Amino acid sequence: MKKNEEFELKITDLSDEGAGIGRTSETGPDDSGAGFIWFVKDALIGDRVLAAATKVKKNYGFARLVRVLEPSPDRVQPLCQEARRCGGCQIQQMEYAAQLKFKEDKVWNDLVRIGGFDPRQFVRTDREIIKHAEGQILFEPIIGMEEPWRYRNKAVYPIGRDRDGSLIAGFYAGRTHSIISCSDCMLGPEENREILQCILDHMERHRISPYDETTHTGVVRHVLLRQGVHTGELMVCLVINADGLKTARELGVKLQEAFPALRSFSLCVNKERTNVIMGTRIIQIVGPGYIEEEIQGVRFRISPLSFFQVNSLQMERLYGTALEFAGLTGKEIVWDLYCGVGTISLFLAGHAKKVYGVEIIPAAIENAKENAALNGLTNAVFYTGAAEEVLPRWYEEQKASDVDVIVVDPPRKGCDIRCLETMVAIAPSRIVYVSCDPATLARDLKYLCGQGYMLQRVRPCDMFPHTVHVETVCALSKLSEAKHHISVQVDMDELDLTAAESKATYEEIQAWVKEKYGFHVTHLNIAKTKRKCGITERINYNLPKSENSKSPGTPKEKEEAIIDAFRHFQMI
Ligand code: SAH
Repeated sequence: MKKNEEFELKITDLSDEGAGIGRTSETGPDDSGAGFIWFVKDALIGDRVLAAATKVKKNYGFARLVRVLEPSPDRVQPLCQEARRCGGCQIQQMEYAAQLKFKEDKVWNDLVRIGGFDPRQFVRTDREIIKHAEGQILFEPIIGMEEPWRYRNKAVYPIGRDRDGSLIAGFYAGRTHSIISCSDCMLGPEENREILQCILDHMERHRISPYDETTHTGVVRHVLLRQGVHTGELMVCLVINADGLKTARELGVKLQEAFPALRSFSLCVNKERTNVIMGTRIIQIVGPGYIEEEIQGVRFRISPLSFFQVNSLQMERLYGTALEFAGLTGKEIVWDLYCGVGTISLFLAGHAKKVYGVEIIPAAIENAKENAALNGLTNAVFYTGAAEEVLPRWYEEQKASDVDVIVVDPPRKGCDIRCLETMVAIAPSRIVYVSCDPATLARDLKYLCGQGYMLQRVRPCDMFPHTVHVETVCALSKLSEAKHHISVQVDMDELDLTAAESKATYEEIQAWVKEKYGFHVTHLNIAKTKRKCGITERINYNLPKSENSKSPGTPKEKEEAIIDAFRHFQMI
């Protein structure tokens, strides 16, 4: 296969980066006979596509999507017109219910393939009831969003000029540094567009130039926008290649008039020749230098440089799950490793005797301490340093340990082995693992489960709809303790539901309908019809709350076919 040569391909899988994967039967250039794997960006599982080779390696290659010949049943029109060029979203063209299923499967597969868990150990549950038998692992449905758009509380727009020389805000075209105009990212709040326009108008009027990275000249590099979803408070920060901006005060007043929710307007000085967006010096123009966000009664101060989860709504649910898995009664000593600005620590502090947070970035620990004080939480202590150094040192000095629960929320590379070893030595009765990468999660769980812990509950959470990322919360119990915790109590009602549920999986219903009626029904179609028929649906597939909700309905013929399938499988 030569570069730019076109060929047809059936897509059968998705890579971790969200590229479609397909195989051609012919061998690679090395004639190994193993077949050839292609990665095609923007293609989906189930698509038949025309692709053009862009890079050919020994036994795999990359190809560009030329045309979809036969669309996957999960393919939808992306809401954002720039979805393909932007690259911020990798799977907007996939129906949301299918995205959720893809993410759930990813976690499941990694636990089985990398973690070595026996799939027969998992109990898939549609209900949020914690009853399972010894040795079983409850695999709970992914927590999806009801409205998977406009969820980001933070946006960063580069500022530049288009070909005609007009000022624009937008995003960098994939792997380049040219900016494509787009000021309404569908993942951020709608107001962002007007705020950006106000800033561009001001720049135009005062002839303030955008930054040009090739010549390292010009002034405005990026605009950072943040909004507290629960407080409504708005932050605007201009990243500039200068020590100040003469008209900043005037712009601040204008923004305040146009956007009454504006709480903070600042400049961030970044005069370096670098890809790093933010500088380190902040010049405050309007307001106190931070906005506040409230998550389940805990208030957090967020400054332009602080890290804060971008999806406030899902963060509440993710950490709510972590709190539930921690099983606190108010008497526990808890460690929160990789604590960032203390979000989880402070969340837990109200339910525990004492919480110790550990984080490697000193500025984040400063924020964590401020946030503890802001909420009057005096039982949270924070240490700066690497978890794999702080924890062993503490344990060595302490010798004995009275730690009840350890929560970890490591970066993608997972926990350091020294950290895991010390956790096992400390032997808390429960470990809660919050993960942003199922592969390293599975690796670390395998270790912990080989050292006297038992995995009890797994719950994925969709923090980043339309991207390939998935977060997961897991609960582990110390084996000796686990035996005490587990009881099997399933009452008749649940037995009935379980029976109805187990009659046929979504895939079986899909296959049966396809076979008999010749058309495809989606998981969402099935879930909605289940609800209509009074059978529990998988809560993760985000059913609209009311009938007049925006989510499209299931066409009559599909609904009838699904009901027919329910009858066939004796579910109704
Ligand atoms: N739980 C936090 C942040 C989790 S992100 C929150 O919800 O806000 C992972 C955090 O781990 C980051 O803040 C990162 O700075 C920190 N980190 C990375 N390596 C670390 C290490 N070896 N020890 C401690 N913290 C580390």
